[in-house]
Amino acid sequence: MALQKTLKDKVTFTGIGVHSGRETTVTLRPAEAGTGIVFHRVDLAPAVSIEAIAANVVNTRLSTTIGRGGATVSTVEHLMAALASCGVDNAHVDIDGAEVPIMDGSAAPFVAAIRRAGVKILSRPKKYLVVKKPVTVADGDKKVTIIPSRYFRISFDMRFNHPAVANQYLTMRFDEEGFAAAFAPARTFGFLAEVEMLKANGLARGGSLENAIVIGDDGVLNPEGLRFADEFVRHKILDTVGDLTLAGYPILGHVKATRSGHDMNHRLVTELLARTDCWKLVEFGERKGDQEVAIPLVVPDLAWSKG
Ligand SMILES: [Zn+2]
Repeated sequence: MALQKTLKDKVTFTGIGVHSGRETTVTLRPAEAGTGIVFHRVDLAPAVSIEAIAANVVNTRLSTTIGRGGATVSTVEHLMAALASCGVDNAHVDIDGAEVPIMDGSAAPFVAAIRRAGVKILSRPKKYLVVKKPVTVADGDKKVTIIPSRYFRISFDMRFNHPAVANQYLTMRFDEEGFAAAFAPARTFGFLAEVEMLKANGLARGGSLENAIVIGDDGVLNPEGLRFADEFVRHKILDTVGDLTLAGYPILGHVKATRSGHDMNHRLVTELLARTDCWKLVEFGERKGDQEVAIPLVVPDLAWSKG
C-alpha cells in the first residue's frame, strides 16, 4: 500500500483490435512518479501523447476511447484494469495504431505481460481519491452511484432480457491479487445477433470466438464454455475498474452499478471529479530507507459508511 509504482522493465505485445481488426504492437515502459498512464501514438509523425484520464475520453460506444488533437486510442479499459491490478500508477504505453489489442478478450494477458516486466516501487506516495459523499448518475434504467467506503468496492447488478444469460449480481472488494485471479481473466461477451449487426456496420471486425464469449439463442457458442459461471458480471466489473482508473487516482469508494457500461462509468467519473466537495486526495504511506511502511487507512474526518 501507498507508494507509487511503475514497471521495472519494458514489455511488448502484439494483437488485433476487436473493432478495427487491425494488428497493433504495444510497448509498456517505466515512467517517473507523477506521470500517470500516458499512451503515445508512435505511428504518427510527430507522435501524439494522450494521458489516460477522463478529460481525454472522446468515445464510449462499445469501448472506451481516449484522444487528443484527432489522434485516438480505443479499447483502453482492459489494459487500464490490468495496470491497476498490478498497482502500476505510472507507465508509458507506446502503440502503433488506434486500438489496444483485444488479446483473449480479458485482462489476463496484460497482467501476465506486466508481471513479466516486473513492478518497481518509486519513492513518492500514491495519492488516493477518497470519496466523502455519494455521487450518482442515472439514465433510464441505468444507474451508477459511488458512496464512501474504506476500500475500493464494486457491486454490479447485470440484467439482460436473454434466456441464456441469467441476471447476475456480484460484489468485489478490490485487492491486486484477488482481482488478477478472479476478475482479470473474465472475457468480453456479445450476443450473436448483435455481433452480426456490428460486423455488418464495419465494427467488431476482429471479434471472434478467440477473443469474446458469443451468446446464441441456446447459450454460449464457445466450445470451451465459460471460465467462471458468472463470467459476464465479472467482466462488467473488470470494465468498471478499467473505466474508473481514468479518474487519475486509485479510488477508495464503493461503486454500485445497475446495467452500467462504458458510457455510464465515464459519466460517473466526470461527475465525481466535478463535484470537488464529494472527495479529497489522501496519501497513506511513507518510505523508511529501503522499506515501504504502510500507514493504516484511517481518514480522521470521514464518517465511513458500511460500504
Ligand atoms: Zn470489456
